[in-house]
Amino acid sequence: NADLALYRAKNDGKGNYHFFEASLDEEARRRRQLDLDLRRAVRDGAFELYFQPLYSLREERLKGFEALIRWHHPERGMISPVEFIPVAEETGLIIPIGEWVIREACRQAVSWPDGISVAVNISPKQFSSPVLSSMIVQALASSGLPPERLELEITESIFIANVQRTLGTLHGLRSLGVRISLDDFGTGYSSLSYLRSFPFDKLKIDQSFVRDLGQQANANAIIRAITTLADALGIETIAEGVEDAQQAEILRSEGCRQIQGYLMSRPVASSEVLKLIASNFGVARAHTSLAG
Ligand code: C2E
Ligand code: MG
Ligand code: MG
Ligand code: MG
Repeated sequence: NADLALYRAKNDGKGNYHFFEASLDEEARRRRQLDLDLRRAVRDGAFELYFQPLYSLREERLKGFEALIRWHHPERGMISPVEFIPVAEETGLIIPIGEWVIREACRQAVSWPDGISVAVNISPKQFSSPVLSSMIVQALASSGLPPERLELEITESIFIANVQRTLGTLHGLRSLGVRISLDDFGTGYSSLSYLRSFPFDKLKIDQSFVRDLGQQANANAIIRAITTLADALGIETIAEGVEDAQQAEILRSEGCRQIQGYLMSRPVASSEVLKLIASNFGVARAHTSLAG
């Protein structure tokens, strides 16, 4: 354990350098192993998409699903994307993994009812790939999914690279007819200048803002400021990480259009998706726990 090693190092002067180096080695070794395992996973197709509903508070219905990748590791079981996406991003493996995600999401979504869309996460390295756009065109064509049912979730970190090129890519993707959401909104730098430069279709308000609702008075004010701004710019809003009915009620009254979170449903396997849609789950939940 690296923390323990550092703790010990601080407490016994001489061993300092030694302990510190050992913990770095350990971390490097762990990453190398993860990279090897990931390569094998790409080859063997060890990934699966889970889907979490995006629910419209106004229409009181399910609007779509976010596709969230899962990795079945042969020894370690299910590994979270929080752990392996950053490694894949570093090694470049995110390119084949991301391509699989888009193709698989389109392939599955085409079997859902017409009004239901699918959102996929696009990592920064994937975003800057020169073949992203043509790959998406191909995935749409081969699946038969209409472009307006595909939503791309990107984060503010894409703006760290060349802003002009980033804007060009965004406009190019938009011209395909797909929609573009700004994920984890509010956690990056100078979000407002990006909104001026590019007309996103949707802002996904980060879970960290949702968590404080009902606990901190200024949390409500932040949500209100975001939804007012988004409304004025004609941009949709969705709040992520909604876990209880009180949060949902505040979000509704502060003008947020959509919610996503454990309150509605955890991410589910694809076999559960049609059941969620068919049971008209959204409306049922709205009347029991969001009433008011
Ligand atoms: P994200 O895109 O912001 O996705 C939302 C995360 O919040 C998901 O975690 C979801 O399971 C979780 N979540 C949803 N509702 C709640 C809730 O009510 N409470 C709490 N505490 N959490 C909730 P997950 O699936 O572990 O994914 C984590 C991150 O990994 C994603 O954050 C995204 O950045 C990345 N990721 C997931 N799938 C992909 C993918 O296919 N490609 C890329 N590039 N990144 C992905
Ligand atoms: Mg996302
Ligand atoms: Mg998010
Ligand atoms: Mg997030």
